[in-house]
Amino acid sequence: MGVKVLKFGGSSVADAGQLRKIKNIIESDPDRRYVVVSAPGKRSSSDSKVTDLLFMLKAQADNNIPWESLLGVIRDRYTSIADELGIETDLDERFEEIRARLREGCSEAYVVSRGEYLSAALISAYLGYDFVDTQSLIRFDQKGRLLTEETNVRLKAELAKHERAVLPGFYGGYEGSGDVCLFSRGGSDVTGSLVARAADADIYENWTDVSGMLMADPRIVKDPAPIERISYIELRELSYMGASVLHEEAVFPARMSDIPINIRNTNAPEDPGTVITNSGDDEDGKVISGIAGKPDFTVISIYKNMMNREIGYVRRALTVIEEAGIPFDHIPTGIDSLSMVIETSALEDKLNDVLDELKLRLKPDEISVEDNIALIAVVGRKMSRTPGVAARICSALAQNGINIRMLNQGTSEINIIVGVEAKDFEKAVNIIYSEFMA
Ligand code: ASP
Repeated sequence: MGVKVLKFGGSSVADAGQLRKIKNIIESDPDRRYVVVSAPGKRSSSDSKVTDLLFMLKAQADNNIPWESLLGVIRDRYTSIADELGIETDLDERFEEIRARLREGCSEAYVVSRGEYLSAALISAYLGYDFVDTQSLIRFDQKGRLLTEETNVRLKAELAKHERAVLPGFYGGYEGSGDVCLFSRGGSDVTGSLVARAADADIYENWTDVSGMLMADPRIVKDPAPIERISYIELRELSYMGASVLHEEAVFPARMSDIPINIRNTNAPEDPGTVITNSGDDEDGKVISGIAGKPDFTVISIYKNMMNREIGYVRRALTVIEEAGIPFDHIPTGIDSLSMVIETSALEDKLNDVLDELKLRLKPDEISVEDNIALIAVVGRKMSRTPGVAARICSALAQNGINIRMLNQGTSEINIIVGVEAKDFEKAVNIIYSEFMA
């Protein structure tokens, strides 16, 4: 028998109707043996996620605001599902325990983790699968860093005891105390990936509310084509530029064991979704895999005659940025010039200090700052084998009157970054998309 690990996100477990769907999905394939679940998410756009309610519950308890009624609202989310589906559960006892722990002044992580914990308890009862808690299996060090190998050993040993199980996403426990430690928001994706690795899964199916990734943002390009297959590195490039479907740490464990990740849609289970693998492996003829971008960058440009002769000049410029705690995205250079491309939000109110420091330490002939620069990443694993991609991008943009402010190709040749003025951002994305997809 094969092994498939599934993770269902908040919208997939939001109410009884969604749970019926996930039961059908799981039961339609006997290999679907391990299921990781999020806490119930929003049922409509005006609804609240249980995780957010739990954060609020703990804040109320800490601030001596009466919290019983909010606990009641959270409880109703679970009991209404259990009642509608006729699931026999011990939810009463579990809520009694949460109430008692809140009175004792338990940690925020404990309270918030109960969203996934209760979800897994309920869904395991509904499916007739074992419930396997992750608190003692997923391990973090005292600084909250995941202990990947120890986690793998623990999970592996536990999974071997269960042919089929449901596990809560989003948390584990600290080494030593064993107290609950949370991943960052959206972290159930990481749990799913860890479970997939530990189970030696054939595939990690990440079930959400979209049918995989699209080649461009549908708010910018009308009906963009779906991405059928993509490599882990391409995914990373696209996610970094805003096309995110997975928690950014979720790829790592699956990738270590070469397990494909398949993004699927609980509301359209027949859609194949996007498959993410090491190589991307198909030969479907598309030169580019996707386009993503962000419109809010600032470029600090420094000019100095004979800059190329001054050893350490770039390092000194980067040291200023580093000391100010600012991450940079790109540093295009010329022989006498250097630009630093930085997300505008990362500069916050530090810009003037940074400029003063750069002037002091680098003695430039000229320094300029330009806001409202958009960066567009054109990503494709096949670009390296296809000559002329950059030329096509440039001429398509030129023909449509768009001025390219920056052009950067990584040596991996997996992406080309195009900088344009923010006002041209959406138009440029559409032009590049049509150039390669028409
Ligand atoms: N429930 C958590 C959140 O809302 C974790 C998750 O769903 O992955 O962030």
